[in-house]
Amino acid sequence: MNYDYLIVGAGLFGSVFAHEAKAAGKRVLVIDRRPHIAGNVYCRDVEGIHVHEYGAHIFHTNNKEVWDYVNRFSEFNRFTNSPVANFRGELYSLPFNMYTFNKMWGVVTPKEAEARIEEQRKGYVAQKQAERGLAPDAPFEPENLEEQAISLIGVDIYEKLIKGYTEKQWGRPCTELPAFIIKRLPFRFTYDNNYFNDEYQGIPKGGYNELIHKLLEKAEVRLNTNYFSAREELDALADKVLFTGCIDEFYDYRFGRLEYRSLCFEHERLEIDNYQGNAVVNYCEREIPYTRIIEHKHFEFGTQPCTVITREYPAAFTAENEPYYPVNDDTNMTLLKKYKDLANTTANVLFGGRLAQYAYFDMDDTVEAALNLAKNELKKEL
Ligand code: UDP
Repeated sequence: MNYDYLIVGAGLFGSVFAHEAKAAGKRVLVIDRRPHIAGNVYCRDVEGIHVHEYGAHIFHTNNKEVWDYVNRFSEFNRFTNSPVANFRGELYSLPFNMYTFNKMWGVVTPKEAEARIEEQRKGYVAQKQAERGLAPDAPFEPENLEEQAISLIGVDIYEKLIKGYTEKQWGRPCTELPAFIIKRLPFRFTYDNNYFNDEYQGIPKGGYNELIHKLLEKAEVRLNTNYFSAREELDALADKVLFTGCIDEFYDYRFGRLEYRSLCFEHERLEIDNYQGNAVVNYCEREIPYTRIIEHKHFEFGTQPCTVITREYPAAFTAENEPYYPVNDDTNMTLLKKYKDLANTTANVLFGGRLAQYAYFDMDDTVEAALNLAKNELKKEL
């Protein structure tokens, strides 16, 4: 054996684990089928603009341990995500807050906004309860995303800012989507356009590639190396494998394929210095096929004479594109359980990250999960 760990995937999860394993004196080989490190946080450099090739990544967390950890490898800038939502040319602030309510209804005080939402909420919930043969004031249990959204924020915001965006994003009606997706979206009765509620937020100065590069500094890395093309050979190199790809692919889809939602990105360089005045503009109406336009330079307050924008199109997951979002509905979760049970009995293989755990992880969740795995795994062997 040449290595203690073969780490399949040079993304955030694999890189954090690789760093910790090296620090614990382990011999580590990291492989990735792509020609670059950093997985989906990889950025391409265009005139000093870091173009988030696989979708915008904004680091945010409430976990001080995770924040301190990533800050050991990179300083972070003061970027605060304040996306703008465009609905048929009307612009609204996100997340839903007093600016949004003011634009939507002309209300000025939190009390007025709450009254508006309550009025819309009440009518809707009463109607739904009646359909279910329940009293209007009985506890309301939303059964899908539409019910969850309207019962939280009312019909107007749902119709303009949630329905079209969400149906494009997930490729199915809101009535067929799980309620939990929308719980990611904060709303508040203050004039505060900071999208995230988390205490810490920013973009690594120097970009994500630098951060991952630092994490992997001491590890041996082989790019353009597809695990599945030389599995036996690669397995033979190490005592243990940490696999960060899709768990169903690892087992050759023996119970069937897990479903993912994918994205297509259309990058465009423009010879102007400022296209949309903000890093993220969401397009919420159904008729526009993309969900958002990212203007990358604004993540790092770039002053270049040119700019790069990316239109983000939700897409079905096929053999040609990348798996981005797990679809955590009942069918897929049942299938996942089978793979997880199998994983628990597979000796010498560890699984981690958004794809292997089939979880809608943010970057901080990913770092936390990788550190936890490292703590358990490396302590065990010390
Ligand atoms: N969402 C929405 N309108 C928006 C932005 C988000 O309805 O303008 C909903 C949508 O259902 C989406 C979910 O909120 O799937 C989570 O959005 P978020 O921006 O957190 O997703 P991510 O950045 O992970 O793609």
